[in-house]
Amino acid sequence: MRSSGSSSAVTSSAEHRPSSLTGSLAAARLVLCGGRGLGSREGFFAMVELAELLGGQAAGTRGALDAKWIAHDREIGLSGVRTAPEVYVGFGVSGANFHTIGMEHAGTIIAVDPDRSARIHQLAHCSVYADAAGCIRGLTERVRALDRGAPGFDPVALVKGYFQELSQQQTL
Ligand SMILES: Cc1cc2nc3c(=O)[nH]c(=O)nc-3n(C[C@H](O)[C@H](O)[C@H](O)COP(=O)(O)OP(=O)(O)OC[C@H]3O[C@@H](n4cnc5c(N)ncnc54)[C@H](O)[C@@H]3O)c2cc1C
Repeated sequence: MRSSGSSSAVTSSAEHRPSSLTGSLAAARLVLCGGRGLGSREGFFAMVELAELLGGQAAGTRGALDAKWIAHDREIGLSGVRTAPEVYVGFGVSGANFHTIGMEHAGTIIAVDPDRSARIHQLAHCSVYADAAGCIRGLTERVRALDRGAPGFDPVALVKGYFQELSQQQTL
């Protein structure tokens, strides 16, 4: 089991759902989606915390729903909701058909999964073959180091740039 070690105020309690878990997935510019590959509730909520910092929305797969990390209204796919954000990032999401029906129209699909044969990589515009928890940690540190209130700060561009960098590094 992986753990993020996060000490965030973002929690998984039923009473407090952070805004990244309550906003509209249909209208979001940026959606971070966690699958079973995140390994633990702590791993999933490190992703939720990152979504919160970026002003994006967080969601999950059936794997995340089965693990009770999300409520049904945050499941993306055939049995859940559909979303077409500018950027979708799947962390530990295998890309089953039932899931991709709900996100295949995203402008840019980024996949973080070490298994090169995972179906999500066939759809992805940017593939990162790495541990999701490490990427979430790295991007969270980068976002925290920035002035998010500065003019011109664009979380969508930041996310795309971060994963493009990782993807280019791995092909060198
Ligand atoms: C009738 C029906 C309807 C369904 N409707 C939906 C639906 O609406 N939405 C939905 O999502 N599913 C739905 N499903 C289920 C779907 O078929 C898949 O089983 C589900 O999407 C898989 O979820 P997952 O990607 O989280 O898990 P998995 O398929 O188990 O994938 C986990 C991934 O994590 C990766 N991984 C492992 N370790 C790491 C790591 N350290 N870092 C990064 N990645 C890692 C693995 O390589 C793997 O690719 C439905 C199924 C049925 C039968």
